Amino acid sequence: MNPKGSIDLKSKPQCMIHASFVYTAEKVVQKKGRLLRESDLVPLKDGAVVYDSRRVIWVGPTSKIPKKYFKIKVLDLENRRAIMPGLVDSHTHLVFAGSRSNEFASRCAGASYAEIASSGGGIQSTVRATRDASFEELLEGAIRRVKVAHAFGVRTLECKSGYGLQHDAELKCLRVVQSLKQQFPYMTFVSTYLGAHDVPRERSKKSYFDEMIHRTLPVIRKQNLAENVDVFIDDGYYSLGEGKKVLTAGKKLKFKLKVHADELTNTEASALGVKMGALSVDHLLKISRKGIQALANSRTVATLLPGTAFSLKVDFAPARALLDSGAQVALATDFNPGSCYSLNLPFMMHLGALYMKMNAAEVFAATTLNAATALGLKNKGAVLPGYDSDFVVLPYAQFEEMIYRLAW
Ligand SMILES: [Zn+2]
Repeated sequence: MNPKGSIDLKSKPQCMIHASFVYTAEKVVQKKGRLLRESDLVPLKDGAVVYDSRRVIWVGPTSKIPKKYFKIKVLDLENRRAIMPGLVDSHTHLVFAGSRSNEFASRCAGASYAEIASSGGGIQSTVRATRDASFEELLEGAIRRVKVAHAFGVRTLECKSGYGLQHDAELKCLRVVQSLKQQFPYMTFVSTYLGAHDVPRERSKKSYFDEMIHRTLPVIRKQNLAENVDVFIDDGYYSLGEGKKVLTAGKKLKFKLKVHADELTNTEASALGVKMGALSVDHLLKISRKGIQALANSRTVATLLPGTAFSLKVDFAPARALLDSGAQVALATDFNPGSCYSLNLPFMMHLGALYMKMNAAEVFAATTLNAATALGLKNKGAVLPGYDSDFVVLPYAQFEEMIYRLAW
């Protein structure tokens, strides 16, 4: 995939012509990313796109470019390469230190998650390493990862905190995300506070809970360090009632909400997320009929993370039931050091198609328009006038090739 990384931020209008296809997503936008048929992709053949550094200006057949654009800088794609909206990875745990490769080896040898955790591994080992790491070390690791995501066609990345589990360490991670915005001005980053990812082992849940709500959240708001607040509602983490308190505190401070919901057990956290107007509820491996119905009748996006189910060797989320009920479905990597060490969003598309029976239009929408909706971003996910010009030029003629390729 050709990164459009060297974009000149003060550029005048430019033009790409003879794209084999331009995946404008016009029909996907019209249908609000729901109940899509394969035929809804309707790409524009031999297309052209006029754009500047911020927005798409004109899209249409190459033969119909308006005369006023004849003199601008042109790149000819020779009908061999397609254009599609930049991919949006709407759920990652990008900022952390340390490696859990040893733990992976133990897992392959048959150790359970509980056994790994009781021997000092699991999330607590990442928490220790993240607390010990300097801001610069965390930033360096994050930069390396962003470059990997970019090479896969990702132009928008959500990044969660959640491996600090303590006031200063959580703020340090969120500041890394702010710094990424400076480092990669041609990409978009959305920052999410996930202090309620787990409970720190060295103190009581109550004292940490009070710190999150009364100390950390107000500082994040004041310093504008995050757009969203997220909480992991599940057995052994935060209860439905505790999750509701975190989300209510976030809402009061005008954060947008996200929920890690119904992953290990069904707690009806998806329905809670819908009720509270969350942008998305994520995971949903154990979602109930009631949760699916709640999502179908709401604006909350159902974000599915097939790489995690694949990596943990558990059943995938009921994507077809969600899609057929009319829910708006996104796919994301859930990149994290424990249960899915991958930033390969096209691989998640492959899993979505192969194991969750999603059609090409559903997979397309799930990683563009619907993922942008899951982040509250309105100008992304289509190559149409007025949308952001962070589209990608594919090294092949058709989008379907991206789904077809296995992990590359
Ligand atoms: Zn997650």
